[in-house]
Amino acid sequence: MRNLKRDPLGPARRMAEYIGEVIAAATSSPTGQWKHSGVRCFRRPGHRKCPGRVRVRERDDGYIEWECPSCGAAGTIQGWEKSFYNLSEIREESRQPGFEIVLTDKEYDGLKKCVSMEPEWDGVIFGATWTPEGIVLRAGAEEFKDFAEYLASRAVGEKTRDSTAFWSGCSTGLSYWGMGFQLEMPRCI
Ligand SMILES: [Zn+2]
Repeated sequence: MRNLKRDPLGPARRMAEYIGEVIAAATSSPTGQWKHSGVRCFRRPGHRKCPGRVRVRERDDGYIEWECPSCGAAGTIQGWEKSFYNLSEIREESRQPGFEIVLTDKEYDGLKKCVSMEPEWDGVIFGATWTPEGIVLRAGAEEFKDFAEYLASRAVGEKTRDSTAFWSGCSTGLSYWGMGFQLEMPRCI
């Protein structure tokens, strides 16, 4: 059956968003090294989202390279320096020895979606790496503390009970994590 609600610009929009995320993931990490990022592959083989999380790296020649370990798609990006997603300026700061927090793929996607309008947290979100145990966010103690406070402040500003619960849950999760507790992340609303 034909889907009448189909968004004709959907694929282009998805692609643009994907390219931006790849740039952010590559430029938030040291140059030259491959990183298995938290960025989800944009492809939809057989109308199903590819489950792969892409590997990215910024090459020494200025190209950003990406490849999906799941479906084998790969590509390079050039001319990204002026992109809004270029995080290379914060790269040094994010190298400070930090703490780690492990999220499930779903938790990570939810959190990423919910802070997508906040460039301040791009370094934390796109600096993440995929591992078989989950997606690992890394940041300094101060940055995680600020992140938890920001999420708490979002909770206060929300109008609905569900969204308030989401933000305060994230904030509490991060704070608990800071104290050495197991993190439990609420679902994104
Ligand atoms: Zn893929």
